[in-house]
Amino acid sequence: MFLDFMESKGHLKMKSFSLVPHNDNSLLIINSGMAPLKPYFTGQEIPPRRRVTTCQKCIRTGDIENIGKTARHGTFFEMLGNFSFGDYFKKEAIAWSWEFLTQVVGLDPDRLYPSVYEDDDEAFELWNKQQGIPAERIFRFGKEDNFWEHGSGPCGPCSEIYYDRGEKYGCGKPGCTVGCDCDRYMEVWNNVFSQFNNDGHGHYTDLIQKNIDTGMGLERLAVAVQDVDSIFDVDTLRALTDHVGEVAHAVYHEDEKKDVSIRIITDHIRSVTFMISDGIMPSNEGRGYVLRRLLRRAARHGRILGIDGLFLSELAKVVIATSKDGYPELEEKKEMILKVISEEENKFNKTIDQGLTILEDLEAAMKEEGKTTLDGADAFKLYDTYGFPLDLTKEILEEKGFDVDEEGFKENMEAQRQAARKARKTTNYMGADVTVYQSIDPSVTSKFIGYDKLVSDSKI
Ligand code: ATP
Ligand code: MG
Ligand code: MG
Ligand code: MG
Repeated sequence: MFLDFMESKGHLKMKSFSLVPHNDNSLLIINSGMAPLKPYFTGQEIPPRRRVTTCQKCIRTGDIENIGKTARHGTFFEMLGNFSFGDYFKKEAIAWSWEFLTQVVGLDPDRLYPSVYEDDDEAFELWNKQQGIPAERIFRFGKEDNFWEHGSGPCGPCSEIYYDRGEKYGCGKPGCTVGCDCDRYMEVWNNVFSQFNNDGHGHYTDLIQKNIDTGMGLERLAVAVQDVDSIFDVDTLRALTDHVGEVAHAVYHEDEKKDVSIRIITDHIRSVTFMISDGIMPSNEGRGYVLRRLLRRAARHGRILGIDGLFLSELAKVVIATSKDGYPELEEKKEMILKVISEEENKFNKTIDQGLTILEDLEAAMKEEGKTTLDGADAFKLYDTYGFPLDLTKEILEEKGFDVDEEGFKENMEAQRQAARKARKTTNYMGADVTVYQSIDPSVTSKFIGYDKLVSDSKI
């Protein structure tokens, strides 16, 4: 509905871009609809049309702590957006967002509240005069909420639209209103009036053209439309959430603590599946590490729920089945996605129980010694030998009131790097350690059969 509506307003529908940024070192993973369109905003590249609309797959690991705890955050979500590259500006953007929410989707206008940047009188007037929203229902906020920027590039003041989900979702604290961190007034849509360029060092210059960049979480919009508890209760996600419950022999919505784990797994497997479909592989750095962290965190929450064996690739199948219409690459890469997930989960599965037992012993020892911080060396051993990403160790310990000596962890990591570097110097120019060959038992011989046989039918 969104894409069709924006098409009727002259926008060109474009497909979601990959989660891997193209020619943009300022960003690890695409986190908004506008991110892959930056060259059009800065004028570096000519857009296919000056009005574009997309539904963009996004990942925000910065929200990881919120997952499962708030009703409205996922590390993975889809962002609907309409964009103007030097074409229309605030007037049209505001009018269309209101028209879409109240007339196309049919949300109750009395439950919607716009906010504007504190100095943006122009946007305030448009909401007030053009859309007829009473002044007391329009909120003025500071830079933190109403000035949008992510990394370097185009940025500017913004106007957001909140939806009042009703008292039962409120925190009940005095003064709970639009802008409160609880789940009652849910931010649905952000309209960014991008008119500046940030060079990455905090220097702002006027963009030659004024642009519109908007972003609305599809899952959040669905929460409002379907009037459900959280993004995990939206029909499409609920299929997955229920499946996680089935695998874990737990019924969703019966036990709040279990629900958090169920939601974390539901969310993380979405991120993992989409990341792999865009060619990201588990590794110890960069995007690959983000993937590894998410996958291992999901695996650990599976343990908390009492799931014994491998379960994540089964869940990925549900993600693929429910999202393949919008994202055909999921189906195309299905085999590869399932294989990568199984292999990574398998790898972690071999050491996770041992690692968790060791961590428990370390906790007991710390308690006995009256210590509250885990030694960097121990955290490093958990990472190096048992495959525990640092923040997984941190998370497990935090639940019990401990923290980790992160500096110590880094020192150990660096020491290992140095040692590896030194070892490399004694190897030959191809990088292989020649001493390895010397240790091979010369009585072992092997015959190369690859010329006329494939590995798959040779059953080696
Ligand atoms: P919030 O304040 O709720 O964390 P935000 O201000 O960080 O949201 P924006 O950067 O303005 O979000 O992104 C535009 C829209 O994308 C939001 O209005 C929301 O609908 C959606 N969105 C943002 N973060 C998430 C998330 N983690 N999960 C689901 N939807 C999200
Ligand atoms: Mg946020
Ligand atoms: Mg916000
Ligand atoms: Mg926002």
